Amino acid sequence: MENVCEIHSYHRPRHLLTESHHVLPRAWQAVWQPMREERNVWYPKTIELCPTGHGGVHHILVEIMREYEAQPKHAIEEVRLQVAEAAVRARYRQHKEFPIACLAPRLWKSKGGLLDTLINRRQYGWGLSHRQFVDR
Ligand SMILES: [Zn+2]
Ligand SMILES: [Zn+2]
Repeated sequence: MENVCEIHSYHRPRHLLTESHHVLPRAWQAVWQPMREERNVWYPKTIELCPTGHGGVHHILVEIMREYEAQPKHAIEEVRLQVAEAAVRARYRQHKEFPIACLAPRLWKSKGGLLDTLINRRQYGWGLSHRQFVDR
């Protein structure tokens, strides 16, 4: 679909464009590829989002990754991720951006990737550090 945000049915003001979001960020895909995958973008699925929704997905993804990083290193990865998801869900449970953000670390793990690989490479899911986010 073109020019239709896939997570919000209502926008005011109406967005003038959409952005294609890779549910598994391209930067992550470039960091590591599963066996037999030689393409830099080996998981091409995208969804269309309004610019606000797109920024929000990445903002929430960064929060999930930072919460993951903050968990005790000796805990197993799955537990660290579950705790991180729960912490961030508590802040964004009403936002449709949250489940989209959650797809990224879940897909990464399901394909055999290690979240610590991303942490070690400082790949939190696109910092967008130039953006100031309004109150949740
Ligand atoms: Zn994106
Ligand atoms: Zn939207």
